[in-house]
Amino acid sequence: MFDRASVVTPGGVNSPVRAFRAVGGTPRFMVSGTGPYLTDADGREYVDLVCSWGPMILGHSHPEVIAAVQEAVSRGTSFGTPGEGEVALAEEIVARIEPVEQVRLVSSGTEATMSAIRLARGFTGRAKVVKFAGCYHGHVDALLAAAGSGVATFGLPDTPGVTGATAGDTVVLPYNDLDAVRAAFAAYPGEIACVITEASPGNMGVVPPADGFNAGLKELCAANGALYISDEVMTGFRTSKAGWYGVDGVRPDLMTFGKVMGGGFPAAAFGGRGDVMAHLAPAGPVYQAGTLSGNPVATAAGLAQLRLLDDAAYAKIDAVSAELRSLVGDALTKEGVAHTVSAASNMFSVFFTDEPVRDYDDAKKQDVFRFTAFFHAMLEQGVYLPPSAFESWFVSTAHDERAVERIAAALPAAARAAAEATA
Ligand code: PLP
Repeated sequence: MFDRASVVTPGGVNSPVRAFRAVGGTPRFMVSGTGPYLTDADGREYVDLVCSWGPMILGHSHPEVIAAVQEAVSRGTSFGTPGEGEVALAEEIVARIEPVEQVRLVSSGTEATMSAIRLARGFTGRAKVVKFAGCYHGHVDALLAAAGSGVATFGLPDTPGVTGATAGDTVVLPYNDLDAVRAAFAAYPGEIACVITEASPGNMGVVPPADGFNAGLKELCAANGALYISDEVMTGFRTSKAGWYGVDGVRPDLMTFGKVMGGGFPAAAFGGRGDVMAHLAPAGPVYQAGTLSGNPVATAAGLAQLRLLDDAAYAKIDAVSAELRSLVGDALTKEGVAHTVSAASNMFSVFFTDEPVRDYDDAKKQDVFRFTAFFHAMLEQGVYLPPSAFESWFVSTAHDERAVERIAAALPAAARAAAEATA
């Protein structure tokens, strides 16, 4: 299948990290998913710790989500008109996340961040955007500078195709460094439209904000007339019922969402302060649109998933995450492998270093070759990890005792492989 794919698709994949280039080997082609398991085209079953890079927070093929999709699809797949499902999904988001007074639905996290930045520029009449090295906000041209995730995986500082003019208004700063943000506001007085940050980064591995970092960003933005944009595409509806906002309570001007809110379908959103959102067309002058925005099948899936995510669901995900973190840490310690298990609520990843990781430069200092050996040993034993040392691991409510036991059984050999790996 990969050979076939490589003939008709660049690199054989439709999103680069799927290609296994960072870890080597042939990517698995999955044919079905049930609960915490994926089955590949050769009939092998894996415990899935990627969960489609976040969205599948109830596990695969959750019966109530599938039923909602089937019901929606039986009425038609796209109308290009307003519909009740998109209103209900917007109401659910507004009800959960207090700073979001209004929300616009789009089809991908990339569209959400791109649109939020355009809106921030339109609202403030300013050009510059501050982002942090190692934070990924989708493949928005202006944000593909020091972007973490797939870009980190391939070690590309930037990408050809993004012009100097496009990236020229992007100011890239080290993460967790408020002094750098202060200095940027001093260097560009009245020019910075917004600061965009992952609410808690998961795209350089999991690197949570230091105490007071997000609050400091908010304060500096407010003092300098810029908007604070919290990108919750990954953390939204995952790290708590109200995402990372539910964890640190720092009130953004704009927020972006994706992944979990789509229930495995292409649905994403941006929203926030009513007076800012009022600048968006057709209410205001900042243009933004989408043929499939608010698609009835995607919104039905997202709404069904969000409605199932109650306090008990988050308690379960948090508990499974804590158990796995401790199992992974113990296995690596037993083999004497230098490591740090880094967590932000139930999102976590393992850095193969025992030095503290506070930013992207720290993350890059880990022994990536040890992750590679660890990854393949887990894969061989039927555990599917993200194929990169710079990605979050994700669990779901479907990760039950049996799934955890299978992971636990695979860990000793994987830890040994990591210990024995050479650069
Ligand atoms: N923002 C964050 C924090 C992300 O993690 C991602 C994707 O991983 C995006 C934006 C882009 O979302 P999408 O892949 O849906 O375009």
